Amino acid sequence: MAACGLDEKLFTYLLERAAAPDEATRPLAAMLARAAGMRLSLERLGWPRAALDRLLARCFPGAAAASLRTALEHAPREFPREAEEIPDLVVLLLEHAAVRDETTLWLARAVALACLGEQHLWQDMRLPHRAALTTLLGQYFPSLVRRNTQDMKWKRFLYKQLCEKEAIACRAPQCTACEDYRDCFGPETVPESVGVC
Ligand code: SF4
Repeated sequence: MAACGLDEKLFTYLLERAAAPDEATRPLAAMLARAAGMRLSLERLGWPRAALDRLLARCFPGAAAASLRTALEHAPREFPREAEEIPDLVVLLLEHAAVRDETTLWLARAVALACLGEQHLWQDMRLPHRAALTTLLGQYFPSLVRRNTQDMKWKRFLYKQLCEKEAIACRAPQCTACEDYRDCFGPETVPESVGVC
């Protein structure tokens, strides 16, 4: 099983105390659990403490905010290089937001942080299947979903959008001629013998 960087105990703890453990809340619990598991500094990510408090109060009212803050604020390790892309991913998502409210902002952060996981994006967001992720993205970031006309894998699609913004070319002029084709396209399913981490 691939390491997923998720603090499993914290994920379960949050979900059990969620106001509504639905498909918009699960990614938020996964985001906080991943931040804790990776010992990521929320301040370094630019996520204000007051906004975090509001998120906890609204979505996880049964959770002990003080203990959570301790879990999320314990000595962060050196900021990992891959996390440098999180703000860019958040900006990209918000450019396609249906509404720019705090819920959408947190979901953008949840998607961006899940991109650091090693599985399909829907798995790293702790959703039941790819269709649930597509529905969620379509609800909150509709114009981004409309752009994925080739049904590219979501994580690949998001990074490709970043590359296009920076005018960084893919390794091949056409996807069909690219040796990475299977990594970018095709079903985002999990073999039955492999569980979600
Ligand atoms: S298949 Fe190759 S060319 Fe197409 S998006 Fe993926 S990496 Fe880029």
